[in-house]
Amino acid sequence: MRKPIVAGNWKMYKTFDEAVDFVEEIQQAIPSPEKVDAVICAPALYLPTLVVAAEDSSLAIGAQNMHFEDEGAFTGEISPAMLSNINVDYVILGHSERRELFNETDEAVNKKVRAALNHGIVPIICCGETLEEREAGSTESKVAGQMTKALEGFSAAEVEHMVIAYEPIWAIGTGKTATADDANAVCGSIRAVVVNLYGKDTAEKVRIQYGGSVKPENIEELLAKEHIDGALVGGASLQPASFMKLLEAA
Ligand code: 13P
Repeated sequence: MRKPIVAGNWKMYKTFDEAVDFVEEIQQAIPSPEKVDAVICAPALYLPTLVVAAEDSSLAIGAQNMHFEDEGAFTGEISPAMLSNINVDYVILGHSERRELFNETDEAVNKKVRAALNHGIVPIICCGETLEEREAGSTESKVAGQMTKALEGFSAAEVEHMVIAYEPIWAIGTGKTATADDANAVCGSIRAVVVNLYGKDTAEKVRIQYGGSVKPENIEELLAKEHIDGALVGGASLQPASFMKLLEAA
């Protein structure tokens, strides 16, 4: 049985004060870490403070992006070495907003996954199709292509600790959710990609989240599906009460 993982992706929302208040408010109420892994992926600027604020709880703190080099002349970037040095546990990689708006390529995502593992940071690797791709019937080939490239060059032992997030782009921030059956079918096809690359035992251990307008009202139905092991949540992770409901439903 795979343990569910519910991660909030705050994107570019919240002031510093709001972020600290949120973590202080929920940290003692996080459900048992045996039941669910709870993660908040916050703006980079807030990470050191939030890691300390969440220190005595099972809430884990993640980043939303990073560079793949440990250091260098990369103005404005943040490195995996910097994140691991402040005890960040997770990093979202290859989010569709980064791919679309910041030209992130499959090759860069693959290098970032390598870098995250080198520093003991768990990557949450995103994939997903546009509405046009879905309507053209190419959803599964799109996510298979993205994941095959992202997962190139690892050992099975490394892959089993990774988290994959299937986020159909048309469902992000739109209030439209993939049906639980459709989301499960695509997550199953992603697991089949991992079977092909790294074998069945590894694929059975990898956790695959669904993301795209997940809310307290629909998370239970999604998580009840065989291949959906958690959720990556934008809007509904921004309020403490709503985030706590997502965790309790997991
Ligand atoms: P919403 O939950 O706001 O649709 O965002 C999903 C997402 O992009 C999480 O990474």
